[in-house]
Amino acid sequence: MKSIESMNIKNKKVIIRCDLNVPIIDGKILDNNRIKESLQTINYCIDNNCKIIILAHLGRIKEEKDLKKNTLKPVSIELSKLLDKEVTFIDKTRGKKLETAVSNMKSKDIILVENTRYEDLDGKKESNNDKELGKYWASLGEVFINDAFGTLHRAHASNVGIASNLPSCVGFLIEKELKVLKELDKPEKPFVVMLGGAKVKDKIGVIKKLVTKADYILIGGGMSYTFLKAEGYEIGTSLLDKDSIDFCTEVLKKYEDKIVLPVDIAVTNEFSNDEEYRTVDITDIKDNEMGMDLGPKSRKLFKSYLSKAKTVIWNGPVGVYEFSKYKKSTDSLLKYLTDNNIRTILGGGDIVAAYNNAKLKNKVYHASTGGGATLEYLEGKKLPGLEAIK
Ligand code: AMP
Repeated sequence: MKSIESMNIKNKKVIIRCDLNVPIIDGKILDNNRIKESLQTINYCIDNNCKIIILAHLGRIKEEKDLKKNTLKPVSIELSKLLDKEVTFIDKTRGKKLETAVSNMKSKDIILVENTRYEDLDGKKESNNDKELGKYWASLGEVFINDAFGTLHRAHASNVGIASNLPSCVGFLIEKELKVLKELDKPEKPFVVMLGGAKVKDKIGVIKKLVTKADYILIGGGMSYTFLKAEGYEIGTSLLDKDSIDFCTEVLKKYEDKIVLPVDIAVTNEFSNDEEYRTVDITDIKDNEMGMDLGPKSRKLFKSYLSKAKTVIWNGPVGVYEFSKYKKSTDSLLKYLTDNNIRTILGGGDIVAAYNNAKLKNKVYHASTGGGATLEYLEGKKLPGLEAIK
């Protein structure tokens, strides 16, 4: 894998694929972390007198009405602010306007091209890695730098497509992310994996891969109820991933001593923040109740395992953290890990959003910018975005 520092980029026209997929509501960026994480590579290219063309995606584009809310325009303003430098936003993903702007660039100029997924409206050209599109984008520059860790597990035109047509390398963010994940090949022990989030199905690969290496796997959040059901508990209307019950039964049987499940939970009658809730032992969930968060005994139990850990990887919140009533356990465990300086890697997506919102006093060892990419790496899968660069 070629690093940016081993690539001759001086005075070149470079295309950087960044991950600028930030949450935006009504044109307002709620969390600019991914933009900040992209700055090192962009600044390095500025220092090397490059002409810089940035490609990135935002959200999903399925129909015409998705276009406006997923424009990268607000991102270009934020990026310009953070770089303290003009960023020219081109509201097209191809065509004369883009080509003219590119041919008029001077050293250190920066262009941000509109959301690459605008191309998905016409036959999913970006997401299906349309050959012509990758070639076209590659024709705009001389060197390709992939720095979008969050999309490494996807073969899209704006990563794999361009890399197939230009001398390519990875940027500083991808290098940093991979370095940390690599440490998990031989983690300092005890090694604790904490999993939450909605579906067991999405985490089966990781559980299979890590269950032998990990000393303990703590399971909370929506996915824990399928495990509890497999153990024979009644889980009321809590999330259930029926197709995964057999898998859970098998893992629990084989690795009884490693899998740790909640012992009490916060339950309510409706998936909302408005209803009253009560805390019950897992033996006492009523038919009309659903689990929304861990209870105090479970938090204490999880902390007792985390307290011994030398390495922790955590993917997925242990409760419905989007609701203020049910973010208590996710926040409390995050605080515990940072307060106690436990070497923790947060595996992207929701858990990193929860971490950023929690505004903790101490920082976690590593908060990844990519949830899906992290999971697929941990599962031992090849990441197409990386393979294309190799
Ligand atoms: P995932 O994408 O699988 O990591 O799932 C993240 C989502 O799981 C978040 O939106 C959480 O609100 C949700 N989640 C966590 N705990 C629960 C729960 N007990 N019941 C329902 N959803 C949950």
